[in-house]
Amino acid sequence: MQKEVVLISFLFILLSNINEIDNDNPPVNFVVTIDWEKERPEIGGSDIYESIEETTLIILDIFKEHNIKATFLVEYDSMADMFQFEELLKRIIDDGHEIGLHFHGTDWYDYNELKTWILSGKEKAKKYDQDIVSFRAGCFVMTDDLKRILKETGFLVDLSKAPGFLAWDTEDTIYFEDNLLILPLTSTEGRYLNFYKGNMEELTTKKIEAEYDTLVMYFHNWNIVNDDLTLNTEKIEEIKNYFTFIENKYNIRYMRCKEYYEYFKWLQSFE
Ligand SMILES: [Zn+2]
Repeated sequence: MQKEVVLISFLFILLSNINEIDNDNPPVNFVVTIDWEKERPEIGGSDIYESIEETTLIILDIFKEHNIKATFLVEYDSMADMFQFEELLKRIIDDGHEIGLHFHGTDWYDYNELKTWILSGKEKAKKYDQDIVSFRAGCFVMTDDLKRILKETGFLVDLSKAPGFLAWDTEDTIYFEDNLLILPLTSTEGRYLNFYKGNMEELTTKKIEAEYDTLVMYFHNWNIVNDDLTLNTEKIEEIKNYFTFIENKYNIRYMRCKEYYEYFKWLQSFE
Protein backbone atom coordinates (compact mmCIF):
# COMPACT_ATOMS: atom_id res chain seq x y z
CA MET A 1 0.00 0.00 0.00
CA GLN A 2 2.70 2.44 1.02
CA LYS A 3 4.72 1.50 -2.05
CA GLU A 4 1.77 2.40 -4.25
CA VAL A 5 1.41 5.76 -2.58
CA VAL A 6 5.11 6.44 -3.10
CA LEU A 7 4.88 5.37 -6.72
CA ILE A 8 1.82 7.50 -7.38
CA SER A 9 3.45 10.50 -5.71
CA PHE A 10 6.55 9.95 -7.79
CA LEU A 11 4.51 9.80 -11.00
CA PHE A 12 2.64 12.90 -9.98
CA ILE A 13 5.87 14.84 -9.36
CA LEU A 14 7.29 13.57 -12.65
CA LEU A 15 4.20 14.62 -14.58
CA SER A 16 4.02 18.04 -13.00
CA ASN A 17 7.69 18.59 -13.80
CA ILE A 18 7.15 17.62 -17.40
CA ASN A 19 4.38 20.15 -17.47
CA GLU A 20 6.73 22.84 -16.27
CA ILE A 21 9.44 22.00 -18.77
CA ASP A 22 7.06 22.37 -21.67
CA ASN A 23 9.53 23.01 -24.45
CA ASP A 24 6.84 23.55 -27.05
CA ASN A 25 5.55 26.47 -25.10
CA PRO A 26 8.38 28.14 -23.16
CA PRO A 27 7.43 31.35 -21.38
CA VAL A 28 7.86 34.62 -23.20
CA ASN A 29 8.79 37.45 -20.85
CA PHE A 30 6.64 40.43 -21.61
CA VAL A 31 7.54 43.83 -20.23
CA VAL A 32 4.68 46.32 -20.56
CA THR A 33 5.64 49.97 -20.02
CA ILE A 34 3.47 53.09 -20.02
CA ASP A 35 4.70 56.64 -20.38
CA TRP A 36 2.32 58.24 -17.91
CA GLU A 37 2.50 61.81 -19.04
CA LYS A 38 0.86 65.10 -19.76
CA GLU A 39 1.87 65.86 -23.29
CA ARG A 40 0.23 64.65 -26.37
CA PRO A 41 1.95 66.17 -29.39
CA GLU A 42 -1.24 66.55 -31.40
CA ILE A 43 -3.02 68.40 -28.62
CA GLY A 44 -0.33 70.25 -26.70
CA GLY A 45 -1.01 72.37 -23.66
CA SER A 46 -2.38 71.20 -20.37
CA ASP A 47 -5.71 69.83 -21.56
CA ILE A 48 -4.53 66.26 -21.31
CA TYR A 49 -4.74 66.53 -17.52
CA GLU A 50 -8.50 66.46 -17.94
CA SER A 51 -8.44 62.93 -19.28
CA ILE A 52 -5.81 61.51 -16.98
CA GLU A 53 -8.16 59.97 -14.44
CA GLU A 54 -10.47 58.40 -16.99
CA THR A 55 -7.68 56.98 -19.13
CA THR A 56 -5.62 55.70 -16.22
CA LEU A 57 -8.56 53.86 -14.68
CA ILE A 58 -9.36 52.22 -18.00
CA ILE A 59 -5.77 51.08 -18.45
CA LEU A 60 -5.68 49.78 -14.88
CA ASP A 61 -8.89 47.82 -15.52
CA ILE A 62 -7.45 46.23 -18.65
CA PHE A 63 -4.32 45.27 -16.73
CA LYS A 64 -6.33 43.83 -13.87
CA GLU A 65 -8.43 41.77 -16.23
CA HIS A 66 -5.32 40.31 -17.84
CA ASN A 67 -3.33 40.04 -14.64
CA ILE A 68 -0.66 42.29 -16.11
CA LYS A 69 1.90 43.85 -13.80
CA ALA A 70 3.32 46.78 -15.73
CA THR A 71 5.71 49.67 -15.24
CA PHE A 72 4.31 53.20 -15.29
CA LEU A 73 6.96 55.80 -16.11
CA VAL A 74 5.79 58.94 -14.33
CA GLU A 75 6.53 62.23 -16.06
CA TYR A 76 8.38 64.70 -13.89
CA ASP A 77 10.11 67.57 -15.70
CA SER A 78 9.72 71.27 -16.48
CA MET A 79 6.52 70.55 -18.42
CA ALA A 80 4.63 68.38 -16.00
CA ASP A 81 4.57 66.97 -12.52
CA MET A 82 2.51 63.82 -12.65
CA PHE A 83 3.32 63.14 -9.01
CA GLN A 84 0.51 65.60 -8.21
CA PHE A 85 -2.09 62.90 -9.01
CA GLU A 86 -1.82 61.29 -5.62
CA GLU A 87 -4.95 59.15 -5.69
CA LEU A 88 -4.17 57.78 -9.13
CA LEU A 89 -0.58 57.02 -8.23
CA LYS A 90 -1.73 55.19 -5.13
CA ARG A 91 -4.12 53.14 -7.27
CA ILE A 92 -1.32 52.27 -9.68
CA ILE A 93 0.96 51.20 -6.85
CA ASP A 94 -1.81 49.34 -4.98
CA ASP A 95 -2.54 47.36 -8.12
CA GLY A 96 1.02 46.07 -7.99
CA HIS A 97 2.56 48.06 -10.80
CA GLU A 98 6.04 49.49 -10.67
CA ILE A 99 6.56 53.21 -11.02
CA GLY A 100 9.56 54.65 -12.80
CA LEU A 101 10.62 58.08 -13.99
CA HIS A 102 9.99 59.75 -17.35
CA PHE A 103 11.80 62.99 -18.13
CA HIS A 104 11.54 65.23 -21.20
CA GLY A 105 14.24 67.69 -22.18
CA THR A 106 17.18 65.51 -21.17
CA ASP A 107 19.52 67.54 -23.42
CA TRP A 108 18.35 70.97 -22.24
CA TYR A 109 20.42 70.98 -19.06
CA ASP A 110 24.02 70.64 -18.01
CA TYR A 111 25.15 67.73 -15.88
CA ASN A 112 24.48 69.37 -12.50
CA GLU A 113 21.06 70.72 -13.40
CA LEU A 114 19.98 67.42 -14.87
CA LYS A 115 21.19 65.50 -11.85
CA THR A 116 19.22 67.82 -9.56
CA TRP A 117 16.09 67.17 -11.62
CA ILE A 118 16.52 63.41 -11.60
CA LEU A 119 17.22 63.30 -7.88
CA SER A 120 14.15 65.38 -7.11
CA GLY A 121 12.05 62.98 -9.20
CA LYS A 122 13.37 60.13 -7.08
CA GLU A 123 12.59 62.16 -3.98
CA LYS A 124 8.97 62.74 -5.06
CA ALA A 125 8.44 58.98 -5.26
CA LYS A 126 9.54 58.48 -1.68
CA LYS A 127 6.27 59.99 -0.55
CA TYR A 128 4.69 56.82 -1.96
CA ASP A 129 7.36 54.61 -0.40
CA GLN A 130 8.72 53.85 -3.83
CA ASP A 131 12.37 53.58 -4.73
CA ILE A 132 12.44 54.43 -8.41
CA VAL A 133 14.97 52.43 -10.44
CA SER A 134 13.56 52.46 -13.99
CA PHE A 135 13.87 55.37 -16.40
CA ARG A 136 12.81 56.46 -19.86
CA ALA A 137 14.11 59.63 -21.53
CA GLY A 138 11.43 61.74 -23.22
CA CYS A 139 11.59 61.34 -27.01
CA PHE A 140 14.23 58.67 -26.28
CA VAL A 141 16.97 61.31 -26.04
CA MET A 142 19.83 59.64 -24.17
CA THR A 143 23.05 61.57 -23.54
CA ASP A 144 26.39 60.63 -21.96
CA ASP A 145 25.67 62.91 -19.00
CA LEU A 146 22.29 61.34 -18.45
CA LYS A 147 23.64 57.80 -18.56
CA ARG A 148 26.29 58.74 -16.02
CA ILE A 149 23.65 60.35 -13.79
CA LEU A 150 21.41 57.28 -13.94
CA LYS A 151 24.31 55.08 -12.85
CA GLU A 152 25.26 57.49 -10.05
CA THR A 153 21.74 57.83 -8.67
CA GLY A 154 20.90 54.15 -8.36
CA PHE A 155 18.89 53.52 -11.48
CA LEU A 156 18.93 49.90 -12.61
CA VAL A 157 16.94 49.87 -15.85
CA ASP A 158 17.06 52.25 -18.79
CA LEU A 159 14.21 52.10 -21.29
CA SER A 160 15.36 54.94 -23.56
CA LYS A 161 16.43 52.86 -26.51
CA ALA A 162 13.79 52.72 -29.22
CA PRO A 163 15.04 51.06 -32.39
CA GLY A 164 13.42 52.73 -35.36
CA PHE A 165 12.65 56.02 -33.70
CA LEU A 166 15.57 58.30 -34.60
CA ALA A 167 17.46 55.93 -36.83
CA TRP A 168 16.37 52.81 -38.64
CA ASP A 169 18.42 50.81 -36.25
CA THR A 170 16.77 47.54 -35.40
CA GLU A 171 19.23 46.56 -32.69
CA ASP A 172 17.22 45.56 -29.64
CA THR A 173 19.68 43.44 -27.70
CA ILE A 174 19.33 43.56 -23.93
CA TYR A 175 22.59 44.09 -22.03
CA PHE A 176 24.24 45.47 -18.94
CA GLU A 177 26.26 48.65 -19.02
CA ASP A 178 27.96 48.56 -15.64
CA ASN A 179 25.00 47.95 -13.33
CA LEU A 180 22.48 49.61 -15.64
CA LEU A 181 20.34 47.24 -17.67
CA ILE A 182 19.73 48.58 -21.16
CA LEU A 183 16.27 47.30 -22.00
CA PRO A 184 15.32 48.52 -25.49
CA LEU A 185 11.84 48.46 -26.88
CA THR A 186 11.50 45.43 -29.11
CA SER A 187 12.06 46.44 -32.68
CA THR A 188 9.51 45.43 -35.22
CA GLU A 189 9.65 46.26 -38.91
CA GLY A 190 11.45 49.58 -38.70
CA ARG A 191 9.62 50.50 -35.57
CA TYR A 192 9.25 49.44 -31.98
CA LEU A 193 6.43 47.52 -30.38
CA ASN A 194 3.54 49.87 -29.65
CA PHE A 195 0.01 50.61 -30.74
CA TYR A 196 0.80 53.42 -33.16
CA LYS A 197 0.62 51.46 -36.33
CA GLY A 198 1.11 48.05 -37.79
CA ASN A 199 -0.60 44.86 -36.86
CA MET A 200 0.55 44.21 -33.31
CA GLU A 201 -0.60 40.60 -33.35
CA GLU A 202 1.38 39.93 -36.51
CA LEU A 203 4.51 41.74 -35.33
CA THR A 204 4.49 39.99 -31.96
CA THR A 205 3.98 36.59 -33.59
CA LYS A 206 6.98 37.25 -35.84
CA LYS A 207 9.19 38.14 -32.91
CA ILE A 208 8.17 35.14 -30.84
CA GLU A 209 8.62 32.84 -33.81
CA ALA A 210 12.07 34.33 -34.28
CA GLU A 211 12.68 32.98 -30.76
CA TYR A 212 12.70 36.22 -28.86
CA ASP A 213 12.26 35.21 -25.22
CA THR A 214 11.62 38.79 -24.08
CA LEU A 215 9.43 41.46 -25.59
CA VAL A 216 9.26 45.06 -24.41
CA MET A 217 6.33 47.21 -25.51
CA TYR A 218 5.04 50.64 -24.62
CA PHE A 219 2.14 53.00 -24.97
CA HIS A 220 0.84 56.22 -23.42
CA ASN A 221 -2.18 57.02 -21.29
CA TRP A 222 -3.24 59.39 -24.09
CA ASN A 223 -3.18 56.66 -26.71
CA ILE A 224 -6.76 55.88 -25.79
CA VAL A 225 -8.24 59.35 -26.35
CA ASN A 226 -9.06 61.18 -29.57
CA ASP A 227 -7.82 64.68 -30.39
CA ASP A 228 -10.90 66.18 -28.71
CA LEU A 229 -10.15 64.12 -25.58
CA THR A 230 -13.15 61.83 -26.02
CA LEU A 231 -12.38 58.18 -25.47
CA ASN A 232 -11.02 56.28 -28.45
CA THR A 233 -13.08 53.15 -27.97
CA GLU A 234 -11.56 51.50 -31.01
CA LYS A 235 -8.06 51.79 -29.56
CA ILE A 236 -9.25 50.47 -26.21
CA GLU A 237 -10.71 47.41 -27.94
CA GLU A 238 -7.51 46.98 -29.95
CA ILE A 239 -5.43 46.92 -26.77
CA LYS A 240 -7.77 44.48 -25.02
CA ASN A 241 -7.91 42.19 -28.03
CA TYR A 242 -4.16 42.24 -28.36
CA PHE A 243 -3.55 40.99 -24.83
CA THR A 244 -6.25 38.34 -25.23
CA PHE A 245 -4.64 37.22 -28.49
CA ILE A 246 -1.10 36.83 -27.15
CA GLU A 247 -2.27 35.14 -23.97
CA ASN A 248 -4.30 32.60 -25.90
CA LYS A 249 -1.48 31.85 -28.27
CA TYR A 250 1.60 31.96 -26.04
CA ASN A 251 2.78 31.32 -22.55
CA ILE A 252 3.14 34.99 -21.60
CA ARG A 253 4.92 36.00 -18.39
CA TYR A 254 4.35 39.68 -17.61
CA MET A 255 7.23 41.28 -15.76
CA ARG A 256 7.85 44.69 -14.24
CA CYS A 257 11.20 46.28 -15.09
CA LYS A 258 12.67 45.78 -11.66
CA GLU A 259 11.69 42.11 -11.75
CA TYR A 260 13.16 41.71 -15.19
CA TYR A 261 16.41 43.27 -13.96
CA GLU A 262 16.68 40.62 -11.24
CA TYR A 263 15.83 37.87 -13.69
CA PHE A 264 18.41 39.03 -16.25
CA LYS A 265 21.06 39.35 -13.58
CA TRP A 266 20.28 35.81 -12.47
CA LEU A 267 20.56 34.58 -16.07
CA GLN A 268 23.93 36.32 -16.47
CA SER A 269 25.25 34.53 -13.40
CA PHE A 270 25.34 31.29 -15.42
CA GLU A 271 27.52 32.78 -18.14
ZN1 LIG B 1 7.05 61.07 -23.15
